[in-house]
Amino acid sequence: KLIEQKDIVKQCLLGSGTCGEVFKMRHEPSQMILAVKVMFRTQSHEENKRIIMDLDVLVKSYNFPHIVRCFGYFIQQTDVWIGMELMASCFDKLLKRIQQPIPEYILGKLTFSTVTALNYLKQQHGIMHRDVKPSNILIDENGNIKLCDFGICGILIDSKANSRNAGCVAYTSPERINPTTEGKPNYDIRADIWSLGISLIELATNTHPYANGKTDFDIMARIVEENSPQLPSDVFFSDIFRSFVDTCLIKNYQDRPKYARLMEQPFFIHSAEQSVDVANWYRTVTSAASQNCVYELCVEQTQIISNT
Ligand code: ADP
Ligand code: MG
Repeated sequence: KLIEQKDIVKQCLLGSGTCGEVFKMRHEPSQMILAVKVMFRTQSHEENKRIIMDLDVLVKSYNFPHIVRCFGYFIQQTDVWIGMELMASCFDKLLKRIQQPIPEYILGKLTFSTVTALNYLKQQHGIMHRDVKPSNILIDENGNIKLCDFGICGILIDSKANSRNAGCVAYTSPERINPTTEGKPNYDIRADIWSLGISLIELATNTHPYANGKTDFDIMARIVEENSPQLPSDVFFSDIFRSFVDTCLIKNYQDRPKYARLMEQPFFIHSAEQSVDVANWYRTVTSAASQNCVYELCVEQTQIISNT
């Protein structure tokens, strides 16, 4: 492969999730800084084959602009290392840092990148993501928004006696919670579209729609029993954005559109065509957040509302 494990030096922990930890590491020969995901695994031949298959997709997606680049991977006895390009942040951390809703025009670009990436994974490689959520949508200093962590994490989790990925319950679609009929899976890529809809509400309001659920069981019950969440009516959002979110969150997945039709939605088309300086927005909100400058945040917010 492109890099050798012995040449990589750990620098610090970037974060940890349900299926492993991500470290900032330096590749000594090139002095390049990488984000390396370290995941623990059990030793089954079947699992090994599936991991290699999904890592293969990751490597083949190297030149796809909306998927985080993978420079190489190592599969060992007890763990798997995946060397990725280092991104500036994920939308989960970003939201916590700036403590305010992400403006609609930025969410338009996020939607465009994410849906384009998900459609590419399905069309070119026949896979679904299974773990769409703000922490798997990353942004770099140049304002590029990219998707990461498809498939592999899901495989490792599924193989652990089917234990559900605890952190992700709140993004899970109703059809994934319901038991399977006649032993065959009763969900498809549209489960990822639901997760995108939930992520959009969370990012647009700075509040997760199931935030006040006490336990995973609680949250799952609400997802299955309640009407789908919607963008709040007392906050300004465009009609096309509202309608896009409503479409993602159509409760019966058989009525929810797949990517081809989702990409015909006015919000998707508008966001694809609109020119937005995401890098400038990112610089502004993060520097404002680090200086704790409330005035600057307010000015940004005003501009955003008058633009839409
Ligand atoms: P989860 O996505 O469930 O939160 P992960 O283990 O996938 O957990 O990731 C942990 C953290 O590492 C994430 O919050 C993310 O911000 C960070 N991270 C993951 N990949 C990268 C990357 N390529 N560049 C920078 N940060 C990353
Ligand atoms: Mg992740």
